[in-house]
Amino acid sequence: MAQYLPVLEVVPGNAGLLEELLSHTKTVNGCWEWQLSCIGGGYGQKWVRLPHGKRRFYAHRLLWETLFGPPKNNVCHHCDNPKCINPAHLFDGTHSENMRDAMAKGRMRNVLVKGHQKNLKITSAVSNVIKSMRASGATAKEIMSATGLSQTSVYTTMRS
Ligand SMILES: [Zn+2]
Repeated sequence: MAQYLPVLEVVPGNAGLLEELLSHTKTVNGCWEWQLSCIGGGYGQKWVRLPHGKRRFYAHRLLWETLFGPPKNNVCHHCDNPKCINPAHLFDGTHSENMRDAMAKGRMRNVLVKGHQKNLKITSAVSNVIKSMRASGATAKEIMSATGLSQTSVYTTMRS
């Protein structure tokens, strides 16, 4: 993976950024392909406005940090599709079980619940994440535990 783009330390739980990233993707054979510009190597890039000006970052890395926080290693692709930002296709360095691990530890809770889980509106971004977790083999119970969503919300989203 190319190393010349800076890494933005994103605070997990930025649902606005998650929504924005996902709005720039198109599903192709299970991959969520980045529709904006890409850099050498084909990785999606995202310009982010910072106090000292605009800088660009890896789209898949931003998506990862929005869900899980900074990775221990590099964010890599199971699918070998550098445009892809589907969290089910990404893994942290050598830790291919990272997503399951994150779900088990409830690290996705802050992203999805935002403090009022009973009235949580299931946005398309949240719905995509639930479906992605499901596709990666998570049970409904695991998804409920990771997201804090009710059984009804999870089952409704999985069937939609
Ligand atoms: Zn993919």
